[in-house]
Amino acid sequence: MCRDPDRCPTHPGELLREDVIPATGKPKAEIARMLGVSRQHLHDLLGERTRVSPEVAVRLAKLFGNAPLFWIRIQSAYDAWHAAREVDVSAVPTLSAAPGNSTPRTVFRSSSVEEASAGRTSMATETDIRREIIEACLELNATGLNQGTSGNISVRHEERMLITPSATPYSEMTPEMIASMDLSGDMTWSWDGPLAPSSEWRIHWLLLKTRSDMTAVVHAHPPYCTALAILRRSIPACHYMVAAFGGTSVRCAGYHTFGSAELAELAIGALEDRTACLLANHGMIAGGCGLAQAMWRAVELEAIARQYHLALQAGDPVILGDREMEETLARFAGYGVAGT
Ligand code: 13P
Ligand code: ZN
Repeated sequence: MCRDPDRCPTHPGELLREDVIPATGKPKAEIARMLGVSRQHLHDLLGERTRVSPEVAVRLAKLFGNAPLFWIRIQSAYDAWHAAREVDVSAVPTLSAAPGNSTPRTVFRSSSVEEASAGRTSMATETDIRREIIEACLELNATGLNQGTSGNISVRHEERMLITPSATPYSEMTPEMIASMDLSGDMTWSWDGPLAPSSEWRIHWLLLKTRSDMTAVVHAHPPYCTALAILRRSIPACHYMVAAFGGTSVRCAGYHTFGSAELAELAIGALEDRTACLLANHGMIAGGCGLAQAMWRAVELEAIARQYHLALQAGDPVILGDREMEETLARFAGYGVAGT
């Protein structure tokens, strides 16, 4: 999902109106009562006629099980977008000594980091993983496998999933912004951290919960994988390296809206006995035992997609037979970036 800087950011009222409240199945009057705000106030908020104040952010966060900063940040993005267009700053000078324009990091300090410094288990490792996730995101963008805020990465750490926050530019991401979700119980939309987890959290959660061969998952929109996915083509055994993904093909999952439970189901199905798949009209997913292995597979998959795409343009690709692939698959048991 790529954010267009010229497009007005979502008002929190829209998010509540279109997604969050409908997902509860509860009438608005009951939501207002539970929030402890008047029906008129909720009505105005949903109609985008009023702002989420810090007090209402705290109430929303309690009701919907996330962080107050999540609501404040959405409101701030909306306010800043309008202010930038409405306020005349032509008479305001710019000091060369002013600090950089990146998002102030302290704004997004998460409680998990504070808990960590208070001694939560293996936090050094968790912080390292958070950093590695960001490095991997930046690498995806630097190598052209991804762009903007598309894609997402998760890593299992003990009984939790660390996952990139939704719609956050990787260049602005800091370790505290990585969301942490519980993997031990049922799948619920609740997390630790200042920002909501990736919209594709269900795919990551289900894979990290159920696949013993995956402790890291990479989702991206690389050009060649996505081109084949737009053609709704699986990748056959056009190259022996297809064996790196556990079988004689890389399947293309059917299409459903990004971030939907249906898409998660389709992806899990396409990944059966495989460590990668394409997503129709969307992108790809690769998993691995450790982030290095998942990243290696993501890079290899895009390389094969490119080769297959080139071959398709030149003629009729010759596809390797089952026996040839069986031999390759046997050799692949000890080949590639080792799992951790
Ligand atoms: P997020 O920014 O929510 O992770 O979404 C990006 C994406 O690729 C959705 O499929
Ligand atoms: Zn995507």
